[in-house]
Amino acid sequence: MVDDTRVHSARRYNYWLGGKDNFAVDRESGDMIAAAFPGVRITARENRGFLRRAVTHLAAEAGVRQFLDIGTGLPTADNTHEVAQRVAPSSRVVYVDNDPMVLVHARALLTSTPEGRTHYLEADLRTPEKILADPEVLDVLDLDRPVALMLVAVLHFVRDDAEAREIVRTLVDALPSGSYLALSHATTDFTDAEGRARYLSMIDAGQVDAYPRTAADLALILEGLEVLEPGFVAVSEWRPDDDGPRPDAGDVAIYGVLARKP
Ligand code: SAH
Repeated sequence: MVDDTRVHSARRYNYWLGGKDNFAVDRESGDMIAAAFPGVRITARENRGFLRRAVTHLAAEAGVRQFLDIGTGLPTADNTHEVAQRVAPSSRVVYVDNDPMVLVHARALLTSTPEGRTHYLEADLRTPEKILADPEVLDVLDLDRPVALMLVAVLHFVRDDAEAREIVRTLVDALPSGSYLALSHATTDFTDAEGRARYLSMIDAGQVDAYPRTAADLALILEGLEVLEPGFVAVSEWRPDDDGPRPDAGDVAIYGVLARKP
């Protein structure tokens, strides 16, 4: 059921990106957060750019042909399968999200090339074993061949560090050597002390639910994986396409990381 009385992160993110698939509650929450953190719209856009560049790299340079994109969000420009299939039409993509609103729009995510495949599963990141055991997921993805696990702007909704680590470990353990993890994650590492305090008080007040982590926290979550160049950087600094002007990292409160399973 689509609930228009509760804020949903997918719809609020869609609002920040300038989309139309959102309700008044989402816009109110989005405006309140943007009033305290004007960089949030820039963050959303830059995060989307990271997703596009990471998938392009994975398909074009790393030769990955399978993608498991958990926390898909509402369809927008350059969805994972469009980016991957532009490079390699045979790419297969499984999308997973727990917001029923995403399912309603999922048809736009299922426009695969004839050579490739796409599938959508409504499921929760917090129960990774269910995702990994789903027969249709296993029909689309061959877990004996490398998979790029995409956790783009979703892991920060899992507040508990041990739980976040366990989720990532369960997912990565199911994938063969040569698989990848593309991660983006909210942080206050680039924020000044005053902004950080403001952010934490909004979390305590239940106004924001993206729990920030430091680079050190994320390094623990990624333990056992090889973090590729340029390491832990703001999404906008992750292998930018050109030398054009980029937003100040202080306005981009989200890390982008690409790691490989050895
Ligand atoms: N990955 C996309 C969208 C990020 S918005 C991008 O970076 O552009 C975050 C998405 O994660 C939303 O669609 C939200 O519904 C989803 N989400 C949040 N918590 C989740 C959970 N526990 N399990 C699955 N999806 C979740």
